[in-house]
Amino acid sequence: APAAAAVPVAPETLTFADVGGMTEVKKVIHRMIILPLSRPELYARYGRRTGGGVLLYGPPGCGKTLLARGTAGECGLPFVNVRIEDVVDPYLGMSEQNLHTAFETARAQAPCVLFLDELDGLAFARHKHRGSDARRLVDVLLQELDAIGSDNDGVLVLAATNAPWDVDEAMLRPGRFDRVLFVPPPDEPARAEILRVLLREVPTEGVDPAALAARTALFSGADLRSVTEQALDAVIEQALATGTEPPLRMAELAAAAGAVRPSTLDW
Ligand code: ATP
Repeated sequence: APAAAAVPVAPETLTFADVGGMTEVKKVIHRMIILPLSRPELYARYGRRTGGGVLLYGPPGCGKTLLARGTAGECGLPFVNVRIEDVVDPYLGMSEQNLHTAFETARAQAPCVLFLDELDGLAFARHKHRGSDARRLVDVLLQELDAIGSDNDGVLVLAATNAPWDVDEAMLRPGRFDRVLFVPPPDEPARAEILRVLLREVPTEGVDPAALAARTALFSGADLRSVTEQALDAVIEQALATGTEPPLRMAELAAAAGAVRPSTLDW
C-alpha cells in the first residue's frame, strides 16, 4: 500500500451540532446517508439500494466542507479530505497517481467518509492538461467511483462544488454522484444559529444573535466567521490596552458587520 494509506485517521468528532442552520439539508443527509448506514438490515429487507455518492453544491463559504465533516462525525467515521486542486498536477501521470492514492487512502481507512472538495477543479484541469488528458483524469475518477460502489468498500463518497455546471455529466449517473444537494446561503434564522455556534465559547455581554442576523443579509457562514473574528480582534486590543478582559459586545460585532462585504453577492 502507498505510504499515505498507512496514516490512520481518527473518527471525526465534529457533528451537526457544530453546523449552524441547514435544517432541511441535515434532514436529507440523515435520510440518505446516516439511516442506511445505521440500519443496513432494514434496507436489505426491502431490497432498497443504498450507497452512491452525494454531490453538495452552493455558494462558497456556506458550509459544504463543514457539513461533510459533520456527516462523518454523525456516523462516527473518519473524515478523509481531498482537495481536487491538490490532486491536479501539471504532469498528467502525477494527477492520475494522486487521485488513485487518495482513493487508496480512503479504502485503507474504511469504513470512512471520503470528501472530494472543489470537484469543478477537474474541469479546470483542462487549463493544465490538454483536452483529451483532462478527459482521462475524469475517467480515472469515474473508475475509482465505480470500483468503490461495486466493492462495497465502506467508503462513503461526498463531493462539493461551487460550480455544478462545470461538473461532468457522466459523474452524475447512478452509483456515482447520483444525489445532488443544494447547500443554500443561510437565511436569517440560520445566520443566528451560525453566530451562536461561532460564539459558543466566547465571553459575551448583551449579544443578540437574532438581531445581528437581521443586519447581515446575504452573509455566508464564512463571512459571519470574519465578522466574529474582527470583533474579537477589537476586544483583544481593548484587553491589551486596559489590562482587563472585557466581554464581547454588540458594538464590536455591529462595527465588524459593517466592514465585511457579503460574499454570496458574487455567486
Ligand atoms: P468553499 O466552497 O469555499 O469550500 P464551503 O461551503 O465548503 O466553502 P466551509 O469551508 O465549510 O464552506 O465554511 C467556511 C467556514 O465558515 C467554516 O470553517 C466555518 O467556520 C464557517 N461556516 C460556514 N458555514 C457555517 C455554518 N453553517 N455553521 C457554522 N460555521 C459555518
